[in-house]
Amino acid sequence: LTRQQLELWDWMADYYCCTLGEVMTAGLPSHLKMASETIITLGPLFSDDIPDLNEDEYLVVEALTLQSELSLKDIRDILQRKTVYPVIRSLLDRHIILPKENFVDPYKALEVKCVRFGPACRTEAERIAAFDLVARSEKQTAVLLEYMQYSRTQPYVRRADLSKRTGASDAVLKAMVKKEIFEFYDREISRIGGEEAVAEPGPLSPQQVEALGAVRGFHAEGKAALLHGVTGSGKTRVYLELMQEVINAGRQVLYLLPEIALTGQIIKRLQRVLGDRIMVYHSRLNNMERVEIWKAVLSGKTSVVGPRSALFLPFTQLGLVVVDEEHDPSFKQHDPNPRYNGRDVALYLARQHGARALLGSATPSLESWENARSGKYRLVTMTERFGGTALPEIVVADSRETDEKGSHHPFFTPTLLTAMRQTIERGEQVILFQNRRGFAPVYFCPTCEWTVECLNCDVSLTYHKFQHRLRCHCCGYATPPPEHCPACGEVQLKLSGTGTEKIEDELKIFLPEARIARMDLDTTRGKHALGKLIDQFEVGELDILVGTQMVTKGLDFERVGLVGVISADQLLRFPDFRADERAFQLMLQVAGRAGRRDRQGRVVIQAHEGSHPVLTDVLAADYDNFIQREARNRQQHRFPPYGRMIRIQLRHPRRATAEEGAKLLGKWLAHALGDRLEGPFEPSVARLRTYYLQDMVIRYSAAPAEGQRVKEIIRRASAQLATQKGLSGVRIVVDVDPY
Ligand code: ADP
Ligand code: ZN
Ligand code: ZN
Repeated sequence: LTRQQLELWDWMADYYCCTLGEVMTAGLPSHLKMASETIITLGPLFSDDIPDLNEDEYLVVEALTLQSELSLKDIRDILQRKTVYPVIRSLLDRHIILPKENFVDPYKALEVKCVRFGPACRTEAERIAAFDLVARSEKQTAVLLEYMQYSRTQPYVRRADLSKRTGASDAVLKAMVKKEIFEFYDREISRIGGEEAVAEPGPLSPQQVEALGAVRGFHAEGKAALLHGVTGSGKTRVYLELMQEVINAGRQVLYLLPEIALTGQIIKRLQRVLGDRIMVYHSRLNNMERVEIWKAVLSGKTSVVGPRSALFLPFTQLGLVVVDEEHDPSFKQHDPNPRYNGRDVALYLARQHGARALLGSATPSLESWENARSGKYRLVTMTERFGGTALPEIVVADSRETDEKGSHHPFFTPTLLTAMRQTIERGEQVILFQNRRGFAPVYFCPTCEWTVECLNCDVSLTYHKFQHRLRCHCCGYATPPPEHCPACGEVQLKLSGTGTEKIEDELKIFLPEARIARMDLDTTRGKHALGKLIDQFEVGELDILVGTQMVTKGLDFERVGLVGVISADQLLRFPDFRADERAFQLMLQVAGRAGRRDRQGRVVIQAHEGSHPVLTDVLAADYDNFIQREARNRQQHRFPPYGRMIRIQLRHPRRATAEEGAKLLGKWLAHALGDRLEGPFEPSVARLRTYYLQDMVIRYSAAPAEGQRVKEIIRRASAQLATQKGLSGVRIVVDVDPY
């Protein structure tokens, strides 16, 4: 760890009201935590002549007298079995052997056993002569030939590969080492391939030149810049110019993105331009790859693109931090601790290193917009798409619309259907957005209104048709759908509500010729599933992509002529003070996927409340009008960013205990905080993963000293609750700046 990392982590623990240990757990790759494996040695009761050893035990003890230490793997090899615990257990119990904790050096594991020419083969002539040395062994001759072939195209040859290709055992290789034809060495290899760097095509547009100049100017003043550029304006190009500049000056860049966008084309673009000077840090990496990136970052030579967790890497030469799609709520970690916001921590990190900071979005968050308005950041805008491409034409279709025969379909209006048919006929593609996965979110009895709920949570189970299962989207619990109502016996149970799976299904009825795919958590679980889906869409193997908010992020397709939003009402009715902002962002972001390059795209938004002010702003693509109204509303109710918020949640498997804990904690907090405390109250989902929940919200002013004081009060009250008889098992979750 670097001193700066520790300092940052300390600050996070303090600001987000958690422990340093929790930050450390989040920050360190597991291979850098003490990696241990069981090693055994001979124990005190061992003597040369122990009676009663069975054959397996005897083999282990015999090996130990020769080797003094054995790992689990060694023992498995000796006994040629996978389950060796009974043998070890029996020896341990009789103190014939002892366990010894051994620490594995994680860096060591980056090394691979390789072969190269030894002292007898240093020159070309010696290598030819070497064939005489192996002439009497067919195997050795084969190995030597193979190695010569292989090493011509390979920078190094692994021992294992060589053995596999020739069928020669390791003993054959060892014999050749003895003859000094080969020598063994351990090579540290990269498991993450880099590419040759090439320039981005085409010069900057005048708008980009201007934006770049403005950003540089603000950075020179030591300010963070907020780049507000409509989708397709070419923000990425501006980031890339700055990144190259910083990297060429020998410093590092951290480029943060929402996790889902990381599979997209943007990575290819960054790597094309920056080559192996940038590494991708994401959740699909294995432990060795994580350690490799850690080490490379520590050396100060590598820049990184990654999700919020990349903030924990040991930067030593950080010169620039870019937060792309800065408005995206997935920068916030919800569970477990530390419940941090990646965008906000990124700004702290930049300040800490004296690095420049650049936030970018087509729909900046109110927080960042306010920071720009108040002069804390500087705003840079790009209002036109690159190449003069027109912004998409957006229309609202009334969900109650009927076709000429007067019939009505619950999720496809005639306007949307016609637009889809026209788009596909023109050879263009369609993206449909529905922010709910599965088939239908409610499975119920029409006679007595009983609904199937989760065993562990207070939510109804979502029906997934493909798996024919009811699933809980909170805890993962799954069960086959019941055949009749357990309350009244009704056998005709019904589904209500709409998920992506149902949209996909129904679409096949209306557009039987269309090639349709679905993009949501269910279809993208495999390591390569998401990438494959994107590739398929990109090369035109699909006509329609139906998806959740995954389709709104970081995708840049050339042939999308139409974007459809199945239900705007669902987005707008969400019970949260950020619901309007979120709905506006999602709709404008997904609309931005329509029409790139030379064609104007179309967007159809279906809604009941067609005159909702948020929709009016989306139709006009009027960010300024939206954000000013949103700012006024939030200011009026003192919601963030005009006031601060902390949510405290108590969790216990027994409702009464959770309530009792909440009452007591609430009393203490109210005493210290007065009417800044709201609650305790039972949240709308009152039980989650078998725990009963009680919530409290603290709202306080944005003055820094006030935050310190409030957090100190929370810390003390929580510690006190843990000492109360019968309440020590109550879990207290503190969420600072909650979403
Ligand atoms: P944004 O991130 O603002 O949505 P992008 O950076 O993805 O926009 O740019 C939109 C499209 O325009 C991309 O296909 C990109 O390759 C292209 N583009 C942007 N700037 C340039 C440029 N200077 N020269 C050529 N193509 C560009
Ligand atoms: Zn019933
Ligand atoms: Zn559940």
